[in-house]
Amino acid sequence: MTAPNPPESASATTVSPSASNRPHDLIVIGGGPAGYMAAITAAEFGVQRVLVLEGTPEALQKVRISGGGRCNVTHACWDPGELVTHYPRGSRPLRGPFSRFACGDAISWFDDHGLTLVAEADGRMFPEQNRSEAVIQCLQRAAVAAGVELRTRAMVQEVVAEPAGGFVLNGRGLTAPLRAQKLMLATGGHPSGRRLAQSLGHNLVPPVPSLFSLSLQAPALAACSGIAVDEVGLDLKLGDQRFRQLGRVLITHRGLSGPATLRLSAFAARALHQRHYTGELKVDWSAGLGRSGVEARLQDFRRQQARRTLAAAKPFEHLPRRLWQAFLKEVDLNAERRWADLPLKAERQLVEVLVGQRLLIQGRGPFGEEFVTAGGVELGEINLATMESRRVSGLHLAGELLDVDGVTGGFNFQACWTGGWLAGQAIAAALQ
Ligand SMILES: Cc1cc2nc3c(=O)[nH]c(=O)nc-3n(C[C@H](O)[C@H](O)[C@H](O)COP(=O)(O)OP(=O)(O)OC[C@H]3O[C@@H](n4cnc5c(N)ncnc54)[C@H](O)[C@@H]3O)c2cc1C
Repeated sequence: MTAPNPPESASATTVSPSASNRPHDLIVIGGGPAGYMAAITAAEFGVQRVLVLEGTPEALQKVRISGGGRCNVTHACWDPGELVTHYPRGSRPLRGPFSRFACGDAISWFDDHGLTLVAEADGRMFPEQNRSEAVIQCLQRAAVAAGVELRTRAMVQEVVAEPAGGFVLNGRGLTAPLRAQKLMLATGGHPSGRRLAQSLGHNLVPPVPSLFSLSLQAPALAACSGIAVDEVGLDLKLGDQRFRQLGRVLITHRGLSGPATLRLSAFAARALHQRHYTGELKVDWSAGLGRSGVEARLQDFRRQQARRTLAAAKPFEHLPRRLWQAFLKEVDLNAERRWADLPLKAERQLVEVLVGQRLLIQGRGPFGEEFVTAGGVELGEINLATMESRRVSGLHLAGELLDVDGVTGGFNFQACWTGGWLAGQAIAAALQ
């Protein structure tokens, strides 16, 4: 799913008349999680006139749709060294920022602001109310309490960095140019923000999608749509690059999705893009049994279940019956045949399918559980202790606009909370 885009034409919501004339201490472009966190933190640390400009009619829209409407806010991960392994892009550079504000700090931050986060068995953390609306309300309450002003339908199209310091902003929905001492760019994956960053002298790593399901040439699997299987091994070789994941997959009517597939797509995002989303995926359905374990299990069944049919006696408990039957069909085996009559050739083919089914990737699925953009402003151009641009003094950047992205599990929001908090704090320190 793509991000909702700011509309082509929009008008500003009401704002106090003085706001347009006097320079703001801080203007944040982008009313998403990274922008909100930066604005609230700066204001709570003493910055007086903080304005958030949001291009759409409503801020925090991605938070609303996130995590299937539940918002996976962060992850129960306490070690920054482990945390960085969940970021296909930005892993090493994020060590510093995470050593200052990581998952535990985000959990405490939300707790201090009246929102309890609860961990699920797999580590994903959601609001106690289990609704993304609770996260939105928490952020909005905190912004109001800190005195942060929000203007929606304000689409910034031009930013000029003044030689003596400070910024002048123009755009749709702004009746007059706005001035700010400090500027925060937190425009997510939206192209207009990348254009603004470029116009201010930043280099961009070309954006490509990340976290998507795979569309596969696998007619037999299509009949198993809706089935989820654990401990599935995925092995993707693209040229001299190899990507492997082990975990839960969900069979869809077009191919594969689920956590392991999304993680694979994230780590292989750029390589798959270069190959126009084609390649051969090897799938190991044996849940760790491996070739010898699968061979042994089939031979046991041939002996011990000799009189029963292949359909009736399923040798692998972890495989749902519908999927087992799809595998039988794939190797042209009549499911009503008895185990004793299983031809050796078919048995070998079955082993191949179970430990290394080869499926052709035909494209990228349209719906990702989470969809983020890989690429963006190069991290080398940012001081990651303050999130300040190394090119333009007084300009800070955070969130998806940067060349940072995580796998599913709350890691993308965590990068926003971390970057936004570091930026807000540094801006407050600089203004004092
Ligand atoms: C369907 C879906 C589900 C997701 N679920 C999760 C999840 O559960 N957990 C997780 O960690 N991540 C999730 N993500 C990813 C997460 O939403 C993003 O990583 C995150 O929102 C990025 O935050 P951001 O503040 O950088 O940008 P955004 O959230 O995209 O916010 C940027 C804002 O800036 C505005 N804007 C852009 N350009 C301008 C401009 N020129 N002027 C004014 N305003 C502008 C945009 O309208 C937008 O509101 C999900 C993503 C999707 C699409």
